[in-house]
Formats: sequence, C-alpha cells, structure tokens
Amino acid sequence: MFDSSKLEYLACPKCRGKLEYHEDPERSTEYLLCRHCQLIYNIHSGIPHLSIDAAQDMQQFINNSEAENNTSGD
Ligand SMILES: [Zn+2]
Repeated sequence: MFDSSKLEYLACPKCRGKLEYHEDPERSTEYLLCRHCQLIYNIHSGIPHLSIDAAQDMQQFINNSEAENNTSGD
C-alpha cells in the first residue's frame, strides 16, 4: 500500500509537477497521475516507478481498462 503522505516529496520526472494518487480497487492497482503530462506512473509493492520510460499514456491507460472490461479473450 502506497503511503500517500509521501506524495508531497514526489514529482513528475518529466515536468517536475505534482502527482495525484489514484487507486483502482477492482484491479488492485495503484498509480500516480500527472495531469499536466497526462501520464500514469504505476506503483508496484508500494513503490512508484517514476520513470518516463515506464510511464503510460493516460488515454491509453483508460482505453485499456475499458477494453479489459468490454472484451473477453484476445
Ligand atoms: Zn508531468
């Protein structure tokens, strides 16, 4: 579980802006969002991966979530 009080010490690696903490209970995932860059940074075992290489595009992330919900199989 990510300690969201640490958020104030974290910044987006791309724009150095503030990050928002989000939780997806359905998928048991946590992630940080930079609204400025529209990038998602995944959190694994409570540790956020603040790397631009590892970041996911927010729109793609949302589309993937919807795809997972709407389609079965490949
Ligand atoms: Zn950013």
